[in-house]
Amino acid sequence: MNAPFPDPSSPLPGIVNGLSVDVEDWFQVGAFENVIARGEWDSIKTRVEDNVYRVIDLFAEADVSATFFTLGWVAKRHPNMIRRIVDAGHEIASHGYDHARVFTFTRAEFAEDIRKARAILEDCSGVAVTGYRAPSFSIDGRTPWAFAELAEQGYAYSSSVAPVVHDHYGWPEAPRFAFKPLPWSSMIELPVTTAILGGRRVAAGGGGFFRVLPYGFSRWAIRQVNRREGRPAMFYFHPWEVDPDQPRVGHAPLRSRFRHYTGLARMAEKLRDLVHEFRWGRMDLVAHREAARAEPLVLPERAEDALA
Ligand SMILES: [Zn+2]
Repeated sequence: MNAPFPDPSSPLPGIVNGLSVDVEDWFQVGAFENVIARGEWDSIKTRVEDNVYRVIDLFAEADVSATFFTLGWVAKRHPNMIRRIVDAGHEIASHGYDHARVFTFTRAEFAEDIRKARAILEDCSGVAVTGYRAPSFSIDGRTPWAFAELAEQGYAYSSSVAPVVHDHYGWPEAPRFAFKPLPWSSMIELPVTTAILGGRRVAAGGGGFFRVLPYGFSRWAIRQVNRREGRPAMFYFHPWEVDPDQPRVGHAPLRSRFRHYTGLARMAEKLRDLVHEFRWGRMDLVAHREAARAEPLVLPERAEDALA
């Protein structure tokens, strides 16, 4: 069992880590996108509200604020939930409209997707949306126009890059910490956290890794980032991850099922340890604090060609 409260001797003054929740229902995840079609979504029993309320309660216990990157599709159907999130002091930001990954769009389609999602989110919340997270961290070398579109639409920050090798996503050439993707805009990207293990980058910012691996791994990784590198970590998870009773999709591939269902029962307890052990805040606050330290994006030659 891990310490339930922060260790007062913990040398983390000043560092506030970014805490985020990607708000989508249990059937809208990348792992099931080939077995549950978007056309079926409206006929499936939703669980997202109850799960979000569970998350809000968990954050309230630790007195932390976070950012809820929410699908426009979900907000449209659950406007009261959006208001509850805002009333609890959290940030509402965009996760796109219906979880289509950025590299499946043309720039014009992407522009329309983020415009549509934001209009719904601002309508429901009554507050300006200034942050964006691409579904499945799908901004990478294939989408050189994505940051420009976000900046043109007035976003202050994005947290859409996983600077790591992964079979479903990842942009391993990208910087590990806050960077300015465009020379003409102050918009910054806050990549999801990676740690260095045996000279390699490993994903350490949440999602399935947090659920599947022991909590000690995440503690080690966040300490490495905070103490040795002096930077904030960016952590994310999903509301369905605190819902061990969700329906099982039996006809999904074995690997998808493993990724989706392993560790659900212990997830809430692990999150509790995590939010109590480190300092956390909303992503807009972290973006503001990181702005002065964000480096211009410089890529190795191979990736630079793709951006030309
Ligand atoms: Zn997502």
